[in-house]
Amino acid sequence: MTHIFPRHTAMRLPRAVSGDGCYIIDDSGKRYLDASGGAAVSCLGHSDKTITEAIKRQLDAIPFAHTGFFTSEAAEDLADLLIAHAPGDLDRVYLVSGGSEAVEAAIKLARQYHLERGEPSRARIIARRQSYHGNTIGALSAGGNMWRREPFGPLLVDMSHIAPCYAYRDQRDDESAEEYGRRVADELETEILARGPETIAAFIAEPVVGATLGAVPAVPGYFARVREICARYGVLLILDEVMCGMGRTGHLFACEADGVEPDILCIAKGLGAGYQPIGATLCSAAIYSAIETGSGLFQHGHTYLGHPAAAAAGRAVVSALVERDLVARSRDMGAKLDAALRDRFGQHPHVGDIRGRGLFLGLELVADRDSKATFDPARKLNATIKKAAFARGLICYPMGGTIDGRHGDHILLAPPFILEEAQIGELVDKLAGAIEDGLA
Ligand code: PMP
Repeated sequence: MTHIFPRHTAMRLPRAVSGDGCYIIDDSGKRYLDASGGAAVSCLGHSDKTITEAIKRQLDAIPFAHTGFFTSEAAEDLADLLIAHAPGDLDRVYLVSGGSEAVEAAIKLARQYHLERGEPSRARIIARRQSYHGNTIGALSAGGNMWRREPFGPLLVDMSHIAPCYAYRDQRDDESAEEYGRRVADELETEILARGPETIAAFIAEPVVGATLGAVPAVPGYFARVREICARYGVLLILDEVMCGMGRTGHLFACEADGVEPDILCIAKGLGAGYQPIGATLCSAAIYSAIETGSGLFQHGHTYLGHPAAAAAGRAVVSALVERDLVARSRDMGAKLDAALRDRFGQHPHVGDIRGRGLFLGLELVADRDSKATFDPARKLNATIKKAAFARGLICYPMGGTIDGRHGDHILLAPPFILEEAQIGELVDKLAGAIEDGLA
């Protein structure tokens, strides 16, 4: 009997007791190859002493000092490091404790920005269906995942949802990828005009969709068009890189591959790499100065904002990514893993799509490759595969359920960047076994 929830009382989960690079070891001594990095968190693996030592040094010096009174060297250094590498003119950093908090801060920043500029009616956020932005009420309202949303309605009302860029399912045979990208991006303009531009604060999107679809990047040109539309109507562009950021896609920031610069950027997960809970919301000086010269203060905050030990972890993680050239490693090992997946599953009758960037890869399972028909949701295929993989000592992140009336079974792979070539074979073998177990 456990008193910890959300641990499912009907399910006996093993206790994680130690980590060894890409492996987690449980209380029976069983080793699990972590092919999901705890949902794209553990980019450095589970036993990186440079990070734990950096955190210990900060804890010994000063574990916590409220940001109402103090800043810290760790938080300042981390902000400097992020700004030095951030896309475009993002040069203000707001440090929070996780992804949902980063998204909440982004939504509130966007709204307050318009308020300070004398446009309080600009409150609506446009998001995309099949997106995930977090579980707090604002982030959940922005997300498009119906089964997560339904139990908690009514959610925030000033939200609209448009189609994501999901070429595998939605690109028509008679259009090129560019044409498709333009068509789907133009839905943003249609929604802005339907609601009235004077009511829209921001558009939020994940550059590579993570937790609902399994590593779906946009087609070339989509985000450039989105950027253009946002600029035309004074709508801020918020990119949620909580999952796909921090080197995961083979670029430090995922939007670099799309050639777009957001007004506001959210990161988390890989920023703390699992060593500490930390997230950040970055924005441009133009946005922050509208607030500074207006009421003078962003009207938001949490107790653990800029937590020194979390900031020390973030500083050590970003330094490690840069100094050890791990973003390039994510790109290179990602290409190798992608090739191994295509080799093993490219002709598989039930693997409809293999996609992603860097070490952020997804497989979409289908009942029939030609029609792309999905499996019966009652079969819970993705959950069965997750269980079978776990039994085989492989952790992968399955996702599915009925989202926006459309069912799907997806498997997300997001292993640590320190993945070795020999481990790619183990990963693919175990995954192949788990898929066969699931289909049996
Ligand atoms: N945004 C995205 C894109 C995410 O994938 C997630 C988490 N899966 C979140 C926000 C929320 O992050 P957290 O769970 O740290 O609150």
